Amino acid sequence: MPRFAAGVVRFQSNVYPEKQNLFEELSKGQSPEALFIACSDSRVETAMITQTEPGELFICRNAGNIVPPHTEQTGGMTASIEYAVAVLKVPHIVVCGHTECGAMKGAMNPEGLDSLPHVKKWLGYAKAAVDVVDGIADDTATPEERMKLLIEQNVLLQLQHLRTHPAVAAALAKGTTELHGWVYDIKTGEVEAWDEAEGRFITVDARYAEQIKELTAKHECAA
Ligand SMILES: [Zn+2]
Repeated sequence: MPRFAAGVVRFQSNVYPEKQNLFEELSKGQSPEALFIACSDSRVETAMITQTEPGELFICRNAGNIVPPHTEQTGGMTASIEYAVAVLKVPHIVVCGHTECGAMKGAMNPEGLDSLPHVKKWLGYAKAAVDVVDGIADDTATPEERMKLLIEQNVLLQLQHLRTHPAVAAALAKGTTELHGWVYDIKTGEVEAWDEAEGRFITVDARYAEQIKELTAKHECAA
């Protein structure tokens, strides 16, 4: 039996009984706190990183955590974004990039992708981020520094693309949803978040210090 199938059996016998109430509640509907857009990379474990339970994140994953700009053409990302924002009314949308991203390596070196026509075309949606890096990186920047910049700039570019989706534009205008840009470091577990005021990525605990304090206070009150 594949390991993941054996995992289902363990889930049913060990995990499900402990959370049966949660699953029964969730069978009536969902009201996720965020649309979470991440890379398909197997090393990015969204529930583990954010310590969330089923029902809390509406997740879209693809190579490179990419959001194609809105067009009249229907695609999986477009439909999922429209549903999450217009129907589920998610109050937050996160684009989460990560270190060691194969998609970003491909975007940086598209000449190596000739045998992968769909990957090559898909990564075209990250091309502007590569151009930004070419524009802002120091001449002395190492390949590693350029890659870190690209991973960050790609997250910012995909946030821009999100704004072109009508449902997102409308929710932003009404103030009913908020955009977040994150980068997860596979090796260290660090997560950095875009800080609009500072104009740079800072650690999640610094970026959300106030909100985390409020949440902690609320939990202490409840306890
Ligand atoms: Zn990736």
